[in-house]
Amino acid sequence: ETPEPLLSINNIEVVYDEVILVLRGVSLDVPQGQNVTLLGPNGAGKSTTLKAISGLLKTEDGEVSRGEISFMGERIDKKNAEEIVRSGIFQVMEGRRIIEDMTCIENLKLGAYTRNQKNINNEIERVFEYFPRLKERTGLAGYLSGGEQQMLAIGRALMANPKMILLDEPSMGLSPLLVKEVFGIIEKINKEQGITMLLVEQNANFALKHADYGYIMESGKVVLDGSREELLNNQDVKDFYLGGN
Ligand code: ATP
Repeated sequence: ETPEPLLSINNIEVVYDEVILVLRGVSLDVPQGQNVTLLGPNGAGKSTTLKAISGLLKTEDGEVSRGEISFMGERIDKKNAEEIVRSGIFQVMEGRRIIEDMTCIENLKLGAYTRNQKNINNEIERVFEYFPRLKERTGLAGYLSGGEQQMLAIGRALMANPKMILLDEPSMGLSPLLVKEVFGIIEKINKEQGITMLLVEQNANFALKHADYGYIMESGKVVLDGSREELLNNQDVKDFYLGGN
């Protein structure tokens, strides 16, 4: 018998503005401790899936109109974003959304708003161990490079002490070298801290290389799923997503 997954999405539909059906029956499971990736073309509904999990749809007049989402055996699809952060899921938004006129440390402290502030300086040191570069950047976050801003956004997620991190296109706007570095750090956090990851990517090569399992979405549905090896060896995946590499 397989243990119950940490996160389980069962046949959800999502509508925007009460009419536009964007997810048309999506189901997926994320087992405890794994790094799962969600791939697919522009507009497939990947970001919408993450927002459905993290309670952020409401900010865009979207809602889960059918199906259910469970985290640690408990329904979360009716909870608001803050309740979901408190339950242990933290989303790193697409475009990073760091506060540009605050320092790194101030941004990191924002990540910890839902939790006990007692050991916060130790937590900041823990983040700096993963991202030593951020420690050297004492100015405003707006002056950080794109890669450093992505690191800061991931560090801010760590500050919430989450059980699971959702990442929306961590490679976006980064040079290949930085993409490699950021994915390496994500994998390290997954392995060392045991934090479960669900990661949306356009960059299928990198994402699959680091993932345990992957789902491929097209037009609001999951069209294929499998382990890293299964997907890397699938001819359709090779042709359409791995660019013949
Ligand atoms: P991308 O990589 O381009 O972000 P995606 O797979 O993450 O693609 P979504 O951003 O989830 O896709 O978008 C899925 C569909 O929902 C698209 O057709 C998009 O136009 C639509 N959509 C997204 N956000 C909204 C919104 N706030 N209101 C209405 N429609 C939306």
